[in-house]
Amino acid sequence: MTIEWEAGRLDSELDGVGFATLAVRAGQRRTPEAEHSEALFPTSSYVFRSAADAAARFSGEMPGNVYSRYTNPTVRIFEERIAALEGAEQAVAASSGMAAILALVMSLCSAGDHVLVSRSVFGSTISLFDKYFKRFGVEVDYPQLSDLDSWAAACKPNTKLFFVESPSNPLAELVDIAALAELAHASGALLAVDNCFCTPALQKPLTLGADIVVHSATKYIDGQGRCLGGVVAGKSKLMQEVVGFLRTAGPTLSPFNAWVFLKGLETLQVRMRAHCASAQAIAEWLEQQPGVERVYYAGLSSHPQYELAKRQQKAFGAVVSFEVKGGKEGAWRFIDATRMISITANLGDTKTTIAHPATTSHGRLTPEARAAAGIRDSLIRVAVGLEEIEDIKADLALGLAAL
Ligand SMILES: *Cc1c(COP(=O)(O)O)cnc(C)c1O
Repeated sequence: MTIEWEAGRLDSELDGVGFATLAVRAGQRRTPEAEHSEALFPTSSYVFRSAADAAARFSGEMPGNVYSRYTNPTVRIFEERIAALEGAEQAVAASSGMAAILALVMSLCSAGDHVLVSRSVFGSTISLFDKYFKRFGVEVDYPQLSDLDSWAAACKPNTKLFFVESPSNPLAELVDIAALAELAHASGALLAVDNCFCTPALQKPLTLGADIVVHSATKYIDGQGRCLGGVVAGKSKLMQEVVGFLRTAGPTLSPFNAWVFLKGLETLQVRMRAHCASAQAIAEWLEQQPGVERVYYAGLSSHPQYELAKRQQKAFGAVVSFEVKGGKEGAWRFIDATRMISITANLGDTKTTIAHPATTSHGRLTPEARAAAGIRDSLIRVAVGLEEIEDIKADLALGLAAL
């Protein structure tokens, strides 16, 4: 239901507008109350005028809401806005980033299919593929992210899906998304990119040739560490499959969380600019510090994929990882000496966070697997927030002084 005088106004006015405008306005439908901010619909079901209408809505003959596991107006605004920002035909929201990945694989893969997952993806993503999908007969192999030859060599006739994160967590390794998409398509597979670290403000995988984008909206889309959520975006034909799984299995997004994410998206571009500017300055400053042995950030000219990062991304993101002198003890002493920065595993928050990957996010890997992933005991990951940069530096300097 929209206001008469607004019908057509919003859509037609958004043709050809820029990213920041879409982030503020795309998808909004006003109710007859003429509210300015997007309406929040905390309702589990919807009423019908008559038994005949109920039957027509259930059968799909008549469009409209039935039940919030299927559709919810607030969630729909969020989905339409994400689709506009990623350049997708359709987006589908889920209750978390992991639920988005679950829905993607459950809806597009079957027993007997083979999937290739980059070795450098989020820990829970590896567990989901390795511990659970394998149990249901999906074969999984793990090529090395940036090495296209390792992807080509791992392809089989039944390869259905490539799954990557670029840049990777925590070492900021990239893959050439356009080249990988070409390889996937030549092998008859789809390419899915977890775009959590860049967000569409910095990188649009679909325009580079990927078929599917997934997000943990929990991170930069929320941007203030409040809600869990996820989203999958791509061609409608694929997304219809994802919708089918989510509405049947149930990990759909709550309307409240969708509303919070809408508010987050409105400031996404300005936040990402500020995050990236501070992260760049912190990375350059860390590189000069005698206690720091190596900095991993794609915005540094010392990064082996700096040229690819410049070509593929608008900016370099806000996660900066670095190795300090003194191994694990050095890293722990550094972390414990900070006073303001939060010791927590989350990222994409206004608050700067610090973590020790070897004993947290990658702590369950065997020492050999950790070494293969390049995660040293001396590695520290900082997700640069929006505090004053001088205050972030001063806090990190406390860590350096403790080494
Ligand atoms: C956090 C994260 C996820 C999982 O998202 P949740 O919202 O925590 O379920 C997936 N991928 C990446 C890259 C992440 O950082």
